[in-house]
Amino acid sequence: MKITTISIFMSDLAIAWDDQTSGVIELKKLRKLCPCAFCSGEKDVFGNVYKGKRTLSENSYRLLRFEKVGLYGIRLFWADGHHDGIYTYEMLKSLTENEN
Ligand SMILES: [Zn+2]
Repeated sequence: MKITTISIFMSDLAIAWDDQTSGVIELKKLRKLCPCAFCSGEKDVFGNVYKGKRTLSENSYRLLRFEKVGLYGIRLFWADGHHDGIYTYEMLKSLTENEN
């Protein structure tokens, strides 16, 4: 599975896949699902989850650009300077499927 086209819109990310399907994901939703350790939390040996403090602003939901990461995902660069999250194709694919 590969991405053929990614388009960044004001409030959505549109992705076209090489299996001829495509979908749109709301940027707000995408940011909230940021998979990086800071946003999603890291578990210690006791199972406690530590999350970074997030102060989200309007810029947190503005997507500036993206970068391909290997063959499996993309890194998103948000306007508030956050770019730690690598969104795998698998994750993006399931998100675009749920939109339909
Ligand atoms: Zn994050």
